[in-house]
Amino acid sequence: MTPRGVAVLGSTGSIGTTALRVLSRHREAFQVVGLTAHTNAKLLAEQQRHFEPAFVGLVNDSGSRGEGWAGGVQCLVEAATRDDVAIVINAIVGTAGLDATLAALRAGKRVALANKETLVMAGALAAEACAEGGGEIVPVDSEHSAILQCIGSRPRSDVRRVILTASGGPFRGWDEAQILNARLEDALKHPTWEMGRKITIDSATLANKALEVIEAHFLFGLPYDCIDVVVHPQSIVHSFVEFVDGSVVAQMSQPTMELPVLYALTHPERVADDSAMPFDPVSASPITFEAVAHERFPALRMGIDAGKRGGSAPAVYNAANEQAVAFFLEGRISFADIPRGIGSALDRLGQLAGSTREDLLAADAAARKHIMELF
Ligand code: NAD
Ligand code: MG
Repeated sequence: MTPRGVAVLGSTGSIGTTALRVLSRHREAFQVVGLTAHTNAKLLAEQQRHFEPAFVGLVNDSGSRGEGWAGGVQCLVEAATRDDVAIVINAIVGTAGLDATLAALRAGKRVALANKETLVMAGALAAEACAEGGGEIVPVDSEHSAILQCIGSRPRSDVRRVILTASGGPFRGWDEAQILNARLEDALKHPTWEMGRKITIDSATLANKALEVIEAHFLFGLPYDCIDVVVHPQSIVHSFVEFVDGSVVAQMSQPTMELPVLYALTHPERVADDSAMPFDPVSASPITFEAVAHERFPALRMGIDAGKRGGSAPAVYNAANEQAVAFFLEGRISFADIPRGIGSALDRLGQLAGSTREDLLAADAAARKHIMELF
């Protein structure tokens, strides 16, 4: 069997490096033909030496670009649409990944999507791009990978409801006053997952779960009232699917992103890989669930409401969050300012037009500007 060509966009990040670990174990099935990153030319050069891809792109860092490397934002679309690429792993953080996702889908590629912001912002456009070019999105996000694995080949009409699990983040047990004063280093201490900084903050505000509810809506064609969220601090059950006869199926494993990355590459098949920690129900116990404390984590409800509103609202939610998180990471605003900023942006901009790429980019820019002016 000839190996399938894979482009990894965002190869230097948390998901990108995880994906390369998985790919290096499955060289008979997959060949890395493209790598891109935003910065970190040194790591990118090491990856180039290891995988010898035909294409390397560095969006920024113009001073230290390697020989033959492409540069600028256009290198993302270039990597994603090459003839020798069958699968694009989009592991870019934020809306910067949008055009590469759309272009890959239009070019008929499988997009193994970690970059959930893309789908939140432009879910309908992504669906159009799939229809136009024959591409498909397979989720890398662990909850959505779980749902896909639970549904298997059953028709959507068999599904009554999905329940996404959320670890609850580092502030699960904190009261409102403590959360108001949470420091950056507290927010960066995720209890069960080691991830990039932006998604780690999103997990602390639960904005990540809102993005995931919208992601599930678009991926599985489910109405919002068929998507629930439950807190599950151990991150062993990655989500549940309830079928129309009342049967509930869950997918479990120790928390590792290697499994969903591998499954996104091989779906609907599975390949042997024994690197995952063996599952032991006894040592995984106790496995517990609790209701979401919406009053302490308002960003979740705001995101779900933005999803229900549709149009530009999810793009405004997502961009306001991205900008507010960037400010929080820089120490410019407090933790509580993140949901406050998102709420303000949605109040002001949630009704903008939101059907074309240009509408959505305008809504994204307006939301970022709103946050910059607010703080
Ligand atoms: P990260 O910050 O560790 O890595 C981001 C990667 O994207 C880096 O390679 C970086 O160079 C590149 N990048 C950043 N800005 C860019 C830009 N403007 N243009 C092009 N490339 C850019 O982030 P991460 O934690 O790996 O997350 C990546 C995506 O995967 C996010 O959408 C996140 O929500 C999602 N995700 C991550 C995890 C996880 O465990 N880390 C789990 C589920 C989903
Ligand atoms: Mg997730």
